[in-house]
Amino acid sequence: MTPKSTFSTRFSSALWLLVIFILAGCIAEKSEIGNSVDSTRLNQAENKSDSPKKNTVTAPKNIIVFIGDGMGVSTVTAGRIFIGQEKGLMGEEYELSFDKFPQLALVKTYNTNAQVPDSAGTATAILSGYKTNIGAINVKPDADVAKMVVSSCVAKSAPPTLLERAKKTGRSVGVISTARITHATPAAVYGQAVDRSWETMADIDPQAVKLGCKSLSHQLLENTPDITLGGGAQKFTPEQLTDWQEKTGHIYVSDAQSFRSAPKDQTLLGLFTPSHMSYEADRDETKEPSLAEMTDVTIDALAARGRGYVMMVEAGRIDHAHHGTNAYRALKDLQAFDDAIAAAVENAGDDTLILVTADHSHVFTMAGYPKRGNPILGLVRTPDPRGEGAGLDPALAADGKPYTTLGYHNGPNVREADSPALTDNMVQAPDFLQQTAVNLSSETHAGEDVALYAYGPGSRRFSGVMDQDEIGQILADLIGE
Ligand SMILES: [Zn+2]
Repeated sequence: MTPKSTFSTRFSSALWLLVIFILAGCIAEKSEIGNSVDSTRLNQAENKSDSPKKNTVTAPKNIIVFIGDGMGVSTVTAGRIFIGQEKGLMGEEYELSFDKFPQLALVKTYNTNAQVPDSAGTATAILSGYKTNIGAINVKPDADVAKMVVSSCVAKSAPPTLLERAKKTGRSVGVISTARITHATPAAVYGQAVDRSWETMADIDPQAVKLGCKSLSHQLLENTPDITLGGGAQKFTPEQLTDWQEKTGHIYVSDAQSFRSAPKDQTLLGLFTPSHMSYEADRDETKEPSLAEMTDVTIDALAARGRGYVMMVEAGRIDHAHHGTNAYRALKDLQAFDDAIAAAVENAGDDTLILVTADHSHVFTMAGYPKRGNPILGLVRTPDPRGEGAGLDPALAADGKPYTTLGYHNGPNVREADSPALTDNMVQAPDFLQQTAVNLSSETHAGEDVALYAYGPGSRRFSGVMDQDEIGQILADLIGE
């Protein structure tokens, strides 16, 4: 055996050892993968036994449903960065209050007759547990919408509302919205209407009036939650409100100061603005309470009643700012929503289930290749590895002009060839309206799934891909009529 062959034998032995080590490593790794598959299966099995139809988990005493109207996933991501940057961070790493919730699901939002839904049909699904036509609130769907309009005042044909379910179990009820309180989402807690526009008697189809249909404002005063806070005083006549107070002894307030001093152990209705409440960006603290304040006060007031409670809190104006393609106000309202959820997590007890979801998405996009920490409302500046000074100029589109990270697929602001080039000052101004692609007078909802975040007892029942009406069915089960 030559030294060379000895070396080669030794080398090949070492090589074999190496091969054995690698193989052993692979096997070990494989078994680790095997373990992780097994544990995933275990989790799946656990989730299966915890199926939406079975009440196998501890039922919560209290339930708070937070609905960010129009808060699609792109809004959540952009809002997270927006808030992070307001706090002096780069933004992307920031965590919203509900980013920390342990349970997550994706929710299919379509209405029975619409691929891209509206808030009436989706709120019916979330709160009452069945899908219905676009524009209908707590009324069973019918292919013949015209027939629904003239024959649906038979209230008994619809399943109970969330308010009715909660009251039946002795629980207190709270409804909070930054929109008009007779608007589709809050109305779906307490009312029924074939057409979401039936906010006052004057809005109702004359044929339906003959059938005895009542406006949503009438229905609210007949089925009043314990605490009701929002906008929309103009949908009630002064006589309606006076009669209601005289007959019931309940309390009505119309400004923040009277709200703050009103006794909270009585039935309380607060309507702070004629129509929707102000966008958070424009809110006057002395006239309108914040969404977080309304949430916090209502949790205390309902908890003090001691019977358990069901609450719905809507950030109604994220949707409105998106319809107007004003990303700044949409994200400021998401910030106010996040504050309200943080207040609930802090203040509600361990026996409270908290859900955060959206009714539907918007055609709101976050795109281009902006560098890390680029102002979320700003012009796109790309990360550029080529060195000093690179990336200081905005990226240019094919027309030679800068563009923003945030935009909308449709809406009123299509930029024409002769539109002036966008500047940093223009796009970061609060009133800037984002660029759109398809020219529509109002930006529209979007049809992709939305996220649902859950925390507290019963939260494990919300996971995977869910149809939106399953949310309402699980709520009904957890409330336990
Ligand atoms: Zn909308």
